[in-house]
Amino acid sequence: MEGKPISKLPDLGTTIFTEMTAMANRYGALNLAQGFPDIPPPQGLVEAAVKALRDGTHQYAPMAGRPDLRNWICGHHLKRHGAQYDLDRQCTIGAGASSLLFAAIQALVHPGDEVVVQAPAYDLYGPAVQLAGGRLIQVPLLADDGNWDLDALLKAVHVRTRMVILNTPHNPTGTACPPGFLDALAEHLEGTDTLVLSDEVYGPIVHDGHPEVSLTAHPTLRERGLAFGSFGKLLQVTGWKIGWAVGPTHLTTELRKVHQYDVFSTGAPLQAALASFLPTSQGESHLNGLAQMYQAKRDRLLDGLKGTAWHSTPAAGGFFQVLDARDIIEGDDGHWAREWTRTHGIATIPLSAFHRPETPQIRVCFAKENATLDAAVNKLCQIAADHAR
Ligand code: PMP
Ligand code: GLN
Repeated sequence: MEGKPISKLPDLGTTIFTEMTAMANRYGALNLAQGFPDIPPPQGLVEAAVKALRDGTHQYAPMAGRPDLRNWICGHHLKRHGAQYDLDRQCTIGAGASSLLFAAIQALVHPGDEVVVQAPAYDLYGPAVQLAGGRLIQVPLLADDGNWDLDALLKAVHVRTRMVILNTPHNPTGTACPPGFLDALAEHLEGTDTLVLSDEVYGPIVHDGHPEVSLTAHPTLRERGLAFGSFGKLLQVTGWKIGWAVGPTHLTTELRKVHQYDVFSTGAPLQAALASFLPTSQGESHLNGLAQMYQAKRDRLLDGLKGTAWHSTPAAGGFFQVLDARDIIEGDDGHWAREWTRTHGIATIPLSAFHRPETPQIRVCFAKENATLDAAVNKLCQIAADHAR
């Protein structure tokens, strides 16, 4: 054994989300780092979960997920995106979107395959590609003008590219896929076998009238891709870890070959609760009001920071806001994000955890009660004031 590498991921530590949450707990700091709401889920959903437990829903759910919940998911894609998915062959429920993204990458990426990802990227994709033996090709997500950089993506994608991974609304930048972007990608991919994974876990959460862009709405791209959703994000239940993937039968079949062995099936009583709550009027009105609720929270955060040295472009989607600290600190945002957890009692995510940003930046989760947001604003204002001295 001596001298032989044991680790398949030798350069990897624990995730920045785990680290910052542990630090927030250690120092009793406000945790706006890891992306989870402190807003309670809809009461009807909690009651449905209690009922599912009382009703004795304790044994395995089917491998692909409960048919009634898959039926709701397929209906959701039909209603919102005009996409027809067959619940038996084209929809799979897993332990959060994470488990299905991971399974899809293991199932579809072969050793040596190129996988193109826009950076900064959610941290799961890279290690998943590495474990599959693929080669991660990173291209910048944003051009100098702050818009999604189509040219950079298309330049990196060639006829043998195995997979492109997209994420919209985007974590960590809070940007969203612009209209027309998917059309250009679809045209570029014509005649290739390149697959597209579209991570849409923040799907309906779009702001300022930005359109909800989904792979599943695209008439040709959806034939070469899987789209991923997460009930955790839609219902303030990130700890439930129930997510889904939809896609054509030949890709779903491959995905399930891995899913049936890495997770097999997940959270039977929670799936039952989701299946009974989502079709109710309370369920529908919750989803319809989601984007508006989060936009108001984003605005509350940004209004509170107006006139301070924090710079920002308002998030176009999701529940993260990037704050630029170029007029507050110099250098390593990672150092300061950790420091501020100790000194100012607020934990955030440094953007340098994802890539090398040109200016120091932090990511703040605004999926929080107004009282939490107001306390966070006070602390962020204090940071700006203390550094100005
Ligand atoms: N993708 C992105 C971009 C995310 O932010 C998250 C949140 N953790 C996930 C996937 C994973 O979702 P889930 O919690 O449903 O596994
Ligand atoms: N998606 C969450 C975020 O971006 C983190 C989930 C995790 O801790 N792995 O903050």
